[in-house]
Amino acid sequence: MTDKARPFSELPLSTAALANLTQLGYVEMTPIQAASLPIALAGRDLIAQAKTGSGKTAAFSLALLARLDARRYAVQALVLCPTRELADQVTQEIRRLARAEENIKVLTLCGGTPMRPQTASLEHGAHIIVGTPGRIMDHLERGSLSLDALNTLVLDEADRMLDMGFFDDIAKVARQCPKERQTLLFSATYPEGIAKLSQQFLRNPKEVKLEERHDNSKIRQRFYEVTEDERLHAVGMLLNHYRPVSTIAFCNTKNQCRDLLDVLRAQGFHALALHGELEQRERDQVLIQFANRSCSVLVATDVAARGLDIAQLEAVINVDVTPDPEVHVHRIGRTGRADQDGWALSLASMNEMGRVGGIEEAQGRDVEWHPLSGLKPASDQPLLPPMETLQILGGRKEKIRPGDVLGALTGEAGFNGSHIGKINVTEFSTYVAVDRSIARDALRKLSAGKVKGKKVKVRLMDE
Ligand code: ADP
Ligand code: MG
Repeated sequence: MTDKARPFSELPLSTAALANLTQLGYVEMTPIQAASLPIALAGRDLIAQAKTGSGKTAAFSLALLARLDARRYAVQALVLCPTRELADQVTQEIRRLARAEENIKVLTLCGGTPMRPQTASLEHGAHIIVGTPGRIMDHLERGSLSLDALNTLVLDEADRMLDMGFFDDIAKVARQCPKERQTLLFSATYPEGIAKLSQQFLRNPKEVKLEERHDNSKIRQRFYEVTEDERLHAVGMLLNHYRPVSTIAFCNTKNQCRDLLDVLRAQGFHALALHGELEQRERDQVLIQFANRSCSVLVATDVAARGLDIAQLEAVINVDVTPDPEVHVHRIGRTGRADQDGWALSLASMNEMGRVGGIEEAQGRDVEWHPLSGLKPASDQPLLPPMETLQILGGRKEKIRPGDVLGALTGEAGFNGSHIGKINVTEFSTYVAVDRSIARDALRKLSAGKVKGKKVKVRLMDE
């Protein structure tokens, strides 16, 4: 395959859609888009496999939008996703891509929130539904959702949905879709269950697979040999030596995550953990704080971190070596994206040397070993994240928008816009990242002042 740039303009897309893509800064297709869009736009069923962060969302979104008739008030496309965060990310991307067309309604239907408001939204009509299989099933069973007019069914992160035991729910949903439809299956890996899914629910699908090809000049990989006693402590040594602003530390188990979190916090690092046992609201808070750069280290299992679109990662630390070389390649592919450099640092004990051998085989070259003793703190200052997060009690329910918060901070309170980072508005809360140097002051002034003409409760989130 060649690496020649392929502009979106070579696709049969409307002029408005092309102009919108340009506005979004999407000029060239990513490789998976270039490989899958011509097939999907031609109406064929498709199985597409490419790593996280390769642009799969736009690949299926552009295809389903191209077939959509905005004047027809019926659900014409359904995207199944494994988790609510992923469904939210997909919904946002579809909305951005749909801006070219007027009045396309996209609705997210996931568990963990009450059914009734969702049912009410469905009554108002939606063109596109994005949701988790369980909740979609619930709506189908209650008759609040009809798929009779569906053209396109998308299974996004299919491998992850299978991991989470959604096979039966997916099957039930697929059986309620019209037989005459297009089915698009996207996945980062290709476990056995995918073949089973595709045999049952796809018709003569085309398969597109992009091999992992990491730019080695961007990801610098180093291995450190540790004893079991040294392992958790070594993570802090790596952080102090390399001083990455944002790091994901991958562990093989939830227990390891918990232990590492304790060790890192005791050492004064700002760390948060992402694992399956968190409540939805807690997961949201963790992801928001990590993405807005007010948390240095996200400690996670593979399952919990899969699929999340987290940009700007200076380092990935493999606290344990994964038994699956393909997972290793995935983990480290999260750093060194775009034009940034990244470190992929791995800790391995004698017992894990077999797994390291598997990685060397998969990569087609030996790994590079470095001694722990070479790790020296690069500064005597503790590693702190550049930002802190303020939580404002009040969100979409109170009709707060990011501009209201930015206005309150840069207007009356007098802060410089360059000190304000990401602002996330959720249903009941708003999170704003501010430069560490102004955090206390911002807390005080926001608490004393008003947002959207109202007094608000604000707190600093110290993890
Ligand atoms: P995946 O689903 O494969 O993990 P995403 O669809 O989440 O990947 O895309 C990763 C990031 O790349 C997103 O932030 C998205 O906005 C961006 N992106 C996707 N396609 C393009 C493109 N053609 N040009 C520039 N950026 C893109
Ligand atoms: Mg995706």
